Amino acid sequence: NIYGPSRKNSKGINLAVLGELVPFQAQLDQFARTVWTAAPLINGKSRREGTPQSVAVPHRLGEQVGHVYWATPDQAAEALDVAAGGFKRWNETAAELRAQCLERFADLLEQHTPELIAICCREAGKTLQDGIDEIREAVDFCRFYANQAREKFGDVTVLPGPTGESNELYLEGRGVFFCISPWNFPLAIFTGQIMAALAAGNSVIAKPAEQTSLVASRAVELMLEAGFPASAIQLLPGDGATLGKVITGDERCVGVAFTGSSATARIINRQLAAREGIIPQLIAETGGQNAMIVDSTALPEQVIRDVVQSAFASAGQRCSALRVLYLQRDVADRMEEVLAGAMAELQVGDPARHSTDVGPVIDSDALGLLEAHARDLRSGFRLIAKAPAPSEAKGYFMAPVAYEISSMRDLKQENFGPVLHVVRYDSDQLDAVINEINAAGFGLTLGIHSRSESTAAYIERRVKVGNTYVNRNQIGAVVGVQPFGGRGLSGTGPKAGGPHYILRFGTERTRTINT
Ligand code: GLU
Repeated sequence: NIYGPSRKNSKGINLAVLGELVPFQAQLDQFARTVWTAAPLINGKSRREGTPQSVAVPHRLGEQVGHVYWATPDQAAEALDVAAGGFKRWNETAAELRAQCLERFADLLEQHTPELIAICCREAGKTLQDGIDEIREAVDFCRFYANQAREKFGDVTVLPGPTGESNELYLEGRGVFFCISPWNFPLAIFTGQIMAALAAGNSVIAKPAEQTSLVASRAVELMLEAGFPASAIQLLPGDGATLGKVITGDERCVGVAFTGSSATARIINRQLAAREGIIPQLIAETGGQNAMIVDSTALPEQVIRDVVQSAFASAGQRCSALRVLYLQRDVADRMEEVLAGAMAELQVGDPARHSTDVGPVIDSDALGLLEAHARDLRSGFRLIAKAPAPSEAKGYFMAPVAYEISSMRDLKQENFGPVLHVVRYDSDQLDAVINEINAAGFGLTLGIHSRSESTAAYIERRVKVGNTYVNRNQIGAVVGVQPFGGRGLSGTGPKAGGPHYILRFGTERTRTINT
């Protein structure tokens, strides 16, 4: 039973407990000067060829955390050969043995937690809390999909049929899966996609985001140590467009698992559709324009705590993050006052400091887009609050801001960072608010704050999203507890960390025998 007592999510580290924080920081300090290297890993061999690119630390400009050898198109073609060759053996490996590899990998992730957090912090600018959550989620994905493999790929299902005939249904892997993961969850989503694909019996070619190859490379080294065959998992750090074209254009690639922007998902979809031969799978988890609706029955302190977390945790760089906060007009002044007070307390700065709430954004391009958006807002709308400037100047920092706008229609695109937009609505405008959110076409997360159960239920039924959270924050979906993923412009489904995800990575077969 995947939800039974045998499966537990991992524990993590409680930074509020001094007895856990102090030894944890000492462990992290050991990696303060480590320089990591990432390179294509093809058939288990690290290919350090050509000139590596250096990897900058987003919160300490001028500092480097490592080097990455980008994969070439020839290496991508080689990875395809190896993955295609490795598929049969891995697919024929019993699901139980595959599951055990996933579990050994989970154990290794736990054993290497300080190092992995150190990389996440220095390569992706993750705060300590985000780093802890990142490893936990990765570990949870492994253990969850291990059990899923046992349950769904382990045994045949015997089906009814006429006397003298046996009918069985079973699942197996499809072939070579291409997993393309984002920088905002450089270990968790990277791991989740790959583990689901491998658990189902596929071989995998993994392409981490350009910004976060180091943690991905370390993870693949640990996968090999855990016992996954070298022919089952290939790593290609490097340019998405160049490598993507080689892999998605090859008929041996049977499916793509992608998390990133809607625009890139569309490009991949077009590349796959343009191909001759089989019609491959695309599993895409894309952006959001996520709203929270707060009515006049909600408690300001509770609302604002959840707003601040939803909008500004991880520097707003989650696709689940709150972007548009709808406040019922009668309580809006009071809510905004509490919001301004809470934002004044936020600490923006070095993510390695345990008191930091908001670390840097990922790179100068991201910061440029966010600053341009904030400039546009400044010229047309009222500033509600701005968090204090960062304690360090030399980094891609963006102090959280909140602006009051008139409608979600004022926003042209998803703004991937700590920018909150507030819209006031009158009590008779709830349906208009619901329509406005649905009309934007995204459908990822929704927050509702109301002490009226019927209002919450009314909204929940009508706003078309994948994940709704009532009277709490709307981020940090937990594996197996809040399966995560959206609809419309937010993605194709199925939900990651849910019981149907792994099914998309498999193919169903029936066997009828005349006995
Ligand atoms: N699963 C994450 C959450 O619930 C978001 C994943 C993403 O940003 O892609 O916050």
